[in-house]
Amino acid sequence: MDASILNYTVNDNVASFLNKTQKLYIGGKWVDTNSSKTFDVEDPATGEKLASCAAGNSKDIDLAVKAAREAFDSGKWTSVPANEKGKIIWKIGDLIDQHTEELAQLESLDNGKPVAVAGAADVPLSSDIFRYMAGWATKIEGETIPISVPYTPGAQYHSYTLREPVGVVGQIIPWNFPLLMAAWKIAPALAAGNCIVLKPAEQTPASILVLMEVIGDLLPPGVLNVVNGYGAEAGQALATSKRIAKIAFTGSDLSGQKIYEQGAKKLIPVTLELGGKSPNIVFDDADKEAAVMGAISGIFAATGQTCIAGSRLLVQKSIHDEFVARLIEVAKTAKIGDPMSLDTHVGPVTTPPQFKKVMDYLDIAKAEGANCVLGGGEYTGEGAKGSQFVEPTIFTGVSNDMRIAQEEVFGPVLSVIPFEDEADALRIGNDINFGLAAGVWTSDMGRAIRMSERLRAGTVWVNTYRVVSYMTPFGGYKRSGLGRENGQQAIMAYLQQKSVWIATETSAANPFVMK
Ligand code: ADP
Repeated sequence: MDASILNYTVNDNVASFLNKTQKLYIGGKWVDTNSSKTFDVEDPATGEKLASCAAGNSKDIDLAVKAAREAFDSGKWTSVPANEKGKIIWKIGDLIDQHTEELAQLESLDNGKPVAVAGAADVPLSSDIFRYMAGWATKIEGETIPISVPYTPGAQYHSYTLREPVGVVGQIIPWNFPLLMAAWKIAPALAAGNCIVLKPAEQTPASILVLMEVIGDLLPPGVLNVVNGYGAEAGQALATSKRIAKIAFTGSDLSGQKIYEQGAKKLIPVTLELGGKSPNIVFDDADKEAAVMGAISGIFAATGQTCIAGSRLLVQKSIHDEFVARLIEVAKTAKIGDPMSLDTHVGPVTTPPQFKKVMDYLDIAKAEGANCVLGGGEYTGEGAKGSQFVEPTIFTGVSNDMRIAQEEVFGPVLSVIPFEDEADALRIGNDINFGLAAGVWTSDMGRAIRMSERLRAGTVWVNTYRVVSYMTPFGGYKRSGLGRENGQQAIMAYLQQKSVWIATETSAANPFVMK
């Protein structure tokens, strides 16, 4: 497509990306797919085709796993000294920063998120996790254990543990934060010494392809392979591959369940970061203005397409009406429109099926008897060029058993649920199959601590919402997932432990006692 028809100036590298058919990155080279199929990369803001991308198939996955296996088995990455590994991973972070403009623009064009948000959050969070994990490369240590064994009197042992990479890991990522979710997975896996086959989401391949153009040469061939393609084809082939040692997945709970089953068949570790339906709970003693802002960013940032969206806003009855009035007032100031425009707050929904899903949920909520007090339909106003924009929507009078309160919409749709007191808030907050995150707004620190202990969620924010850091473990309770990303936990998820025993003093122990 001709980049100049859009009302912004695209970075030269973005323009050249838009004009190429994108290939697969296997064994350190850009290669064609064996499927000879391509899929279109589309701009959700306009529906226009941006580029074409090779759609990898099971043969491509096999080749990528083989390349990763060879790289791993030949020690191309594991034998690189830890300090050198750390320097390379750090350099990846620096290169991401140097390419901020093109990465942010592509993330915006491909996913529909405001370019200002991609530039301020997605890109620097991605570069920073590489630098954080670079530090871990030199801190992967075992322990020395002063061992004693009752049935071998007189014998002495020197015993210690080693932490070793699991091997070749399959990583499958979603379309809502393509670059960041890739960074969350690639950085710890590399720091722990693994080789990788990564499958981006078919809806949003762009930023990861550019990432590979930028960083590919830093790594020995085969250490990091990227195979784009459909979930049911390339994704499934990766999850079922017999030669991978771990799967890390972020996406829907239903796909996560299938992938877990594939992991179970091979008895390999699986980490899953899945959906959410998080309660954001406002007590009457809260700083209400701060809570309004937290509720707005909790649901409308990234057009509501975040697993941590605070999509159930629980408001204490005593402040309900005034709180909702202010919420509507602030939500109305959201500037909806072209995500490439620097002052846009809310962009389009990323894919046509997702747009339809959100619209269906608006109908479901209305049919269930929820009151639509803001929005409630497609946004066709100023700035909406295409047909995937949804009005920021607020429903009041929602009860927690309605589908709009129990099911993940993944769009800019907020359900407001009133509650009486702390016990009621806790009951409603936990009455859900998901458990990714929760927010508590209160000036009573005792209550804040009680609530954060009792809410069944992997992250609890008090008097804030949506902050994440690569230093803090992130993951879910219940159907929201298994395992943790970020922080030390993420490194541990890509390592396994070995115990070594060395006899330093033998004894005439009864050989039949040993197990
Ligand atoms: P969504 O419904 O939000 O698109 P998915 O869970 O379907 O989320 O997709 C997240 C990622 O998982 C994408 O990269 C997708 O291609 C991949 N995927 C979907 N289904 C499968 C599957 N059965 N096996 C492996 N990967 C899959």
